[in-house]
Amino acid sequence: MKVAIVGAGIVGATTALVLAERGLEVTLIDAEAEAGLGTSYANGSSITPIHAEPWNPPGTIRKLPGALFNPRSPVRISLRALPGLFHWGRRFIRESDSARYQANARHSIRLALYAKRCLVELRKRYDFSYDQWADGSMELYRSRDALDGIIEFRRQLDLPGIEFQTLDRDEIVAREPTLEPVAVDFHGGLWMQAHESGDARRFSAEAARVVQGLGADVRFGTPVDAIELSAGSIPTLRIGTDRLQVDRIVLCTGTATNRLLEPLGLKVPIYPIRGYSLTVPLPPKASAPQVPLLDAERRFVVARLGPERLRIAGFADFCGPRRGLPKARLNLLRDSAEALLPGLAKDLRCEAVEPWCGLRPMTPDGPPLIGPTPIDGLWLNTGHGAMGWTQAAGSAALLADLLTGQTPAIEPDGLDARRAFR
Ligand SMILES: Cc1cc2nc3c(=O)[nH]c(=O)nc-3n(C[C@H](O)[C@H](O)[C@H](O)COP(=O)(O)OP(=O)(O)OC[C@H]3O[C@@H](n4cnc5c(N)ncnc54)[C@H](O)[C@@H]3O)c2cc1C
Repeated sequence: MKVAIVGAGIVGATTALVLAERGLEVTLIDAEAEAGLGTSYANGSSITPIHAEPWNPPGTIRKLPGALFNPRSPVRISLRALPGLFHWGRRFIRESDSARYQANARHSIRLALYAKRCLVELRKRYDFSYDQWADGSMELYRSRDALDGIIEFRRQLDLPGIEFQTLDRDEIVAREPTLEPVAVDFHGGLWMQAHESGDARRFSAEAARVVQGLGADVRFGTPVDAIELSAGSIPTLRIGTDRLQVDRIVLCTGTATNRLLEPLGLKVPIYPIRGYSLTVPLPPKASAPQVPLLDAERRFVVARLGPERLRIAGFADFCGPRRGLPKARLNLLRDSAEALLPGLAKDLRCEAVEPWCGLRPMTPDGPPLIGPTPIDGLWLNTGHGAMGWTQAAGSAALLADLLTGQTPAIEPDGLDARRAFR
C-alpha cells in the first residue's frame, strides 16, 4: 500500500517511521527544509503522560476575566481574537463539564501512557540522538488546594500507569537542590518517575532519517498546495504542477490542517494556542536544574536538553493564528523562570538565549484526531495540542493499526478523527 504523510513534525515523522516499519510504501512530505520546524521546533521538550489531561477543567469559565484583563496571567485571551474563537471556545467550555472532562482526560492520558511504551520500544530498535534526559520529572504546587486537587483527580481516573509520589518541601530540595532558595514558596510537589524529556525537533529529524533509511521517499521544501478529489478514486495531492497518487493520505499538518481540508468542504475544530520558549545555553558550571520541572500555577516547564542547553517553555495565548515574539510575554516567561531559579539569573539574560513562539494545534475536548475522515482514503493524525511530543509514538502506532486493519493495541474510542465531523 502506498501512503503519503503530509507534515514531518514530531507526529508526521513518527507516523512515517511506524508505517515504513510495517512495510508500507511511504512518502513523507513537508513544506519546510527539514523535519520538526513547525510547532515541534522548540517546545517544552517534556514527555509527561501523567500530565496529559486537557486544559479545560471544571471551572474554566471562572478564569476568563483574568485571561482577558490581567496582562501578567500565563493564560491570555486577546479581545481581537474573540470573534474567531467563538465556536471553538463554546465547545471548549462545554467540554469542561466534570463528566466530559474526566472522560476526555482518560482518553488523552491512556494514549500518552501507551505512547511512552511505544517510544521505549522505538528506542530499542534505533539509535536516536535527541538530547534525551530520562529519569522522571517534578511538578511544583504553591497551594495545598491545587496539590490536593490534582492528586484526587488522578486517583479518580484510576488508570494503570498513573503512578506518582507526593513530595514535601525537603523532598523537593533533596530531588533538586537548585530549588533550595525558593522551596518555601511551595506547599509541595509530585514526582513522576515515568516522565522524561528530550528535543522533539531533533527526534523528528532522527525519525525522518530512519524513514529514509527504510527506503521511503522523503521530500522537504515541498508544500502540498491542495488535495484533489475525483469521483470513485482516492484523492490526489497537488504539489506545484505535479500530482501524487497514493492509496492513502495522512495529514499530520498540525495547525495548518484546515487549509487543506476546507476546500474539500471539511473542517476540524483545531485552534492555534500560542506558547513561548527560551532556549538557554548553559556554561559548564551553571546552576541549572537536573530534573525537569513544571511550575503548575505559573504554567511553564523547565527541562535540560543535554548538558549544554536548558529549555523554558509555557503560557497559553488565545490570539489567533499569528506567530510573534511579544516582548512582554517573553519577559514574563523569563521573570517567572528567574523567580524559580534565581541562580540562573545571569544565564537567562544572556544574549545567546533563543526566544521562540509556537502554535499548539488544540481540539476543544483535548485528545487528538486519529483515523479516517469522511473522504475515502484521507486520514488524519493531528490536533495534539499541548501534548504532541508526549503522544506522538502512541498516535503513530494507533494510526498504523487502524490503517492496516489490525486490532489496535488501545481502544480508539475518544481519539477517533470522525468525532470532528459529526
Ligand atoms: C510553547 C510550547 C510548549 C510545548 N511543550 C510541549 C511539551 O513539553 N511536551 C509535549 O508533549 N508537547 C508540547 N507542546 C506541544 C507540541 O509541540 C505539539 O503538540 C506538536 O509539536 C505538534 O506536532 P505536529 O507534528 O502535529 O505539528 P508540527 O510540528 O507543527 O508539524 C506540522 C508540519 O506540517 C507541515 N505542513 C503543514 N501544512 C503543510 C502542507 N500543506 N504541505 C507540506 N507540509 C505542511 C509543517 O511544515 C510542519 O512541519 C508544546 C507546544 C508549545 C507551543
